[in-house]
Parts: sequence; C-alpha cells; structure tokens
Amino acid sequence: MKVLLSREAVHTGNLILVNREYGYREHGCRQHECWQQASKMPAPGEGAAGFCRNLCLKEPAAGALKRLMSEIHGWDRIVPVSAWRSQEEQQEIWDQSMEENGREFTEKYVAVPGHSEHQTGLAIDLGRRQEQIDFIRPDFPYEGICQRFRELSGSWGFVERYPADKEHITGIGHEPWHFRYVGLPHAAVMAREGLVLEEYIAFLKDYEYGSSFYGVKLGRGEARISYIRARGDVTELELPAAYPCELSGDNVEGFIFTEWRHFNGE
Ligand SMILES: [Zn+2]
Repeated sequence: MKVLLSREAVHTGNLILVNREYGYREHGCRQHECWQQASKMPAPGEGAAGFCRNLCLKEPAAGALKRLMSEIHGWDRIVPVSAWRSQEEQQEIWDQSMEENGREFTEKYVAVPGHSEHQTGLAIDLGRRQEQIDFIRPDFPYEGICQRFRELSGSWGFVERYPADKEHITGIGHEPWHFRYVGLPHAAVMAREGLVLEEYIAFLKDYEYGSSFYGVKLGRGEARISYIRARGDVTELELPAAYPCELSGDNVEGFIFTEWRHFNGE
C-alpha cells in the first residue's frame, strides 16, 4: 500500500516533540468543538474557581484518561487543573507568571508561548483535590491516589513528562503533575527504557524503517516501531497492508511508524 506523507504531516500526531527548541506548528483543526472533553472532567473545588475553563484534550487522549480515571475512581480525589490551552492563554499565563513570580520561576515552570505541550491538546496537569490548588504547580505527590494514577498511566498511553533527573534534557523543572499522552506502545517503551520524549525520538532513529525495528510485546501482540526520515516535500512510502499500523510525526524531521502484530492464540 503506497502512502504519501506531506512535509506538514511531520508536525502532527501523538508523538510530536514540543519543547523550547521545537514549537507547536500543527495547523488544521484547532476548533474547540472538535476536541473532546475528557469525560466530564469535574470542576475543581471552590478554592480553585476561576481558572477551570476549556478543559479539553484531543482524542484519543481524552478517552484514555476517562477510562483510567473511572478504573481508579480518580475524579473523587484528583482535579484536572489545566489541559488544552490556546496560544493566547499560554501567553496570558506566561505574562502573569512573569509579573507575579519573576523570570527565573517562569522559565522553569511555564513554557514559552508557542512551545507548550498544552497547546497540543495531549497534555494535562492534575492536582490532588484540596481547598487551595496552585494553578502553576499543583500538588500531585508520589503517594496515595496520585501515585496510583501515575503507576497506571503508562498502560493508558500517558507519561510523566518532566521528571526530576531529566531537567537538563527537557529544559523544564520537575513537574510531578504534568502528564503527556503519547499512546501505546510508546508510553510503555519510554517507561521500560527510562526515556523522556526528547531521548525516545533520538533512540528510535536507530531503527530505520525497512531495515530494522524496535519490538515490544504487549498483551497478546507485538508492536514494531521504526523511524522514517522525511524526504523533500513529500515522502513516499510502501506500507505493509497485512497488519494495522499507525504513523505520527515527530515535529522535527520525520515519522514514527508503529505496526501491530497480533497473535491469534496459536
Ligand atoms: Zn502542564
């Protein structure tokens, strides 16, 4: 099966790398209505009123969060603090934080407008439900229900995006509350290999599509992951038609190809 990938497509998909170096460039649908509310996310309590609006995620992140939260009855004790943000909202948050907290704090915890994962609709900040919730740095400890969420999040395609020991790579301070959807099997591989998204994309470049792949067994199947470098304006690709597969841009220079091979119990 022949597939043509435009250069623009590099900037779309669940695995796009958005950080200080690479801005969010996805065009196309940015309409609020086209995004899904992650399962009637409850409004935060009184102390947190005033900032909870437009709490939306893109599919399939919204559906995955919904199912994970229902499995652990998470919304009883966890509140969604911030999800999708427009460029304008990110700018407002940046400006306000610069004014209130100064440059050093802001650069550590707030992404430069245009470079926030929140603009992708694939990231969410979560906080422990309590009276006072810090909008920029919500409390999301490594214990109790928050830790339970964290431990299961990888099975639903989420990663804790800014760990403490990777600040020099992500360029963002330790954020125990910020989760990013990358989907499966990628969240599982990143956890297994101990990689943040910057490292994971670099790691996959060693598995060039057509000549090698990174294989991972999940449930009753195996996922094979490989990397395709974009060539010119249109990348032409011959895909195997036998198995379900997915493509995502990396927002830099290529695509991640994932093929699912399911065992049929034989
Ligand atoms: Zn965040």
